[in-house]
Amino acid sequence: MTAPGGRAVSAPLLGHGEEPTVFELSAPGRRAASFRTTGVPEWSAEELIPADELRSEPPALAEVSERDLVAHMTRLSHRQYSVDLGAYPLGSCTMKYNPKVCDEAAALEGFANVHPATPASHAQGWLELLWGLAHALCEVTGMGRATLQPPAGAAGELTGLLIMRAWHQAQGRSPGKVLIPDSAHGTNPASVSLAGYQTVSVESDERGLVSPDVLRKYLDGDVAGMMLTNPNTLGLFEERIVEVGRLVHDAGGLLYYDGANLNAIMGITKPAVMGFDIVHLNLHKTFAVPHGGGGPGAGPVAVTTELSEFLPGPLVARADDGTFYWEQPARSIGRTHGWHGNALALVRAWAYILSNGSEGLRQVSEAAVLNANWLLSRLRGTYAVPYGSPPMHETVVSTKDAPGTNGQLRALDVAKRLLEKGFHAPTVYFPLVVAEALMIEPTETESPETIAALADALLEIAREGAEVAALAPTTTPVGRVDEARAARRLVLTWDAARAEGPGVSAPA
Ligand SMILES: *Cc1c(COP(=O)(O)O)cnc(C)c1O
Repeated sequence: MTAPGGRAVSAPLLGHGEEPTVFELSAPGRRAASFRTTGVPEWSAEELIPADELRSEPPALAEVSERDLVAHMTRLSHRQYSVDLGAYPLGSCTMKYNPKVCDEAAALEGFANVHPATPASHAQGWLELLWGLAHALCEVTGMGRATLQPPAGAAGELTGLLIMRAWHQAQGRSPGKVLIPDSAHGTNPASVSLAGYQTVSVESDERGLVSPDVLRKYLDGDVAGMMLTNPNTLGLFEERIVEVGRLVHDAGGLLYYDGANLNAIMGITKPAVMGFDIVHLNLHKTFAVPHGGGGPGAGPVAVTTELSEFLPGPLVARADDGTFYWEQPARSIGRTHGWHGNALALVRAWAYILSNGSEGLRQVSEAAVLNANWLLSRLRGTYAVPYGSPPMHETVVSTKDAPGTNGQLRALDVAKRLLEKGFHAPTVYFPLVVAEALMIEPTETESPETIAALADALLEIAREGAEVAALAPTTTPVGRVDEARAARRLVLTWDAARAEGPGVSAPA
């Protein structure tokens, strides 16, 4: 395949119209960098690579000058919406602003340029950071010990469930099912399957909560445990959590806390106080590590002291003389990451925790809950509010039977119209138990003025009516896309998109 000739692109394309792919900008011989010789003798490909593994043709890489490449990337970046650009009220995902001081800490040479295999004696600062962070997360959750290895929330869930399994096995038991409320995040049942368990869905009651009476029907000797989040995925606090925990424990199971989003409870209550045994936390949600394309993330798992011997190892420990060393838990489930986790994400979270302090973390939660409640108070009366209890850090409203609309407004259309008003869309059609759901999490980092503007925009969309929203967006770089087709037919390369024809890669 030969690269097409270079192509002129003018500034009016900024933000709108068609942006060529980097391959279309390519012209033979152009380079973004030129390397001087290193002095290392050159080997030919034939000397280095077995003959049957050699390519017959060189790879078809784009050939672009640095100037054209930077302009291309900059134009693309201007077509994006990001946390640094404005409010991003994606419920459950907690897209809060990520303070720059955390990036500065992660860029420090002593963190960024250390090889993960450096012996503990030469990396005491790193070990102290990991130890301090694990302790802080145990303090926030009330747990005994934590691993920082899992690189995402879902990886934390799998780690926690494997610990659950190892604990049962150590007692000679092998129960087969894990209970999950029907409002749960989709990763929960997926992790349960990966861990070799069967998912049993527990229906929420009419208030959107887990009821002990419903739960009792599902409890028997085959229950390994229950996964819950509190506040739950409807943003509501599980008021009978202590009773729920006792019932699961009495049936021989463990209680798992999905702490992906801890924004409602920091410094106010702790999973341990509610009766939980295992918790995963998404540092890339609550603790201000960038995510959503800006990752990588981190999903540490904290457990009770009783379960700590099953944690992935090694863990950092502190000797009496104050030095830090690696330690292997006695009955470890093994590694869940090649090294020590996404280490620079851990630095960001530690910087966030240190700069807030314990009082600051409490204020984070108080402001997050206040903001969600204030926003709901503005939307009530226009959008439908499916459950009565005050929300915690996020709120779920619905366009179905919404009093302030003509009944035709769809959640998807509201989300698309909101883009035109300068906000990222909230989460839609989740949790599954609410029809036409908009799940909105303003977070603590937005100013009262921004949240007021978000509320105004949502109210205005309802006033404009379903017909206007159904056409949106028309002012964004890419118009309405066929989401069902995109999900079912993955077209991942530019040449495949070209072959597919318009409607796949071409902006509207
Ligand atoms: C985001 C989220 C997860 C999954 O976290 P990932 O890092 O995306 O794997 C799990 N549970 C809840 C409640 C979440 O919001």
